Amino acid sequence: MELFPVPDLPEIEPGDDLAELIESRSDLRPDDVLVVASTVVSKSEGRLADLDDYPAGPRAREIAGRVSELTGEEKDPRFAQAVLEESTEVLIEAPFLLSETPSGHVGVNAGIDRSNVSGADLLLLPRRPSESAARIRDGLAGRPPVIVSDTCGRPFRHGQRAVAIGLAGMPPSRDWRGELDRDGRELTATVQCVADELAGAANLVAGEGADGTPAVVVRDWDFGDLDGSDYLFRDARGDYVRQALRGWQYE
Ligand code: GDP
Ligand code: MN
Ligand code: MN
Repeated sequence: MELFPVPDLPEIEPGDDLAELIESRSDLRPDDVLVVASTVVSKSEGRLADLDDYPAGPRAREIAGRVSELTGEEKDPRFAQAVLEESTEVLIEAPFLLSETPSGHVGVNAGIDRSNVSGADLLLLPRRPSESAARIRDGLAGRPPVIVSDTCGRPFRHGQRAVAIGLAGMPPSRDWRGELDRDGRELTATVQCVADELAGAANLVAGEGADGTPAVVVRDWDFGDLDGSDYLFRDARGDYVRQALRGWQYE
């Protein structure tokens, strides 16, 4: 398998046709996978915002006050307001905001970025990343699978990595259940989230700084003949970590 960046993409502006910009700079094939950083999907969808768009209500002011108190870093209440408005459920308020976004993705600050944004204070995540992925895919002649990625922190481990926040044209996971291990024992639990693994691999090529390579082509990767699983996000009812967080408070 090979991964290579789509070269020479410009600074993406609202209304830009990402599929067209990518297609004209690559030789995408139907059996490639295209991984696109959510940053440029958001820019093309005009998901830019200014702090002044979010006059802070009482809850945002309270959260910002607590975060500032706990971290010693001044938190803008308008930023907290933006996060609240982009969230369907807040799981942690302080010392940082962790919430679920309308698509089901759980992330710090609802995935709102303040880096690699020009001409605005904030860049919001695409509202429906899988619909964005489907739109990009529909604009590509070969209709390869498309993954929209975002760089995220994770619990238990240092550092950030890219994950898939939406996708089209492939199942997110490869289901190994029912296959045999090397001892002939049946696998009962392994559902491999290949979408996250491809997003992570592509992000090694995309970079995090001024690299300017938000679209990466994955070539000669084979999904294999194992069934896919349709789910990227846990159902809240079976998500015990989420349930534990609902009752948690920073002391
Ligand atoms: P995120 O992980 O989706 O939040 O995106 P990042 O901010 O980490 O950006 C991923 C990559 O895309 C980095 O290499 C950035 O330099 C690049 N990038 C971000 N915005 C643009 C853009 O408008 N045009 C181009 N060509 N590259 C961009
Ligand atoms: Mn991001
Ligand atoms: Mn990134």
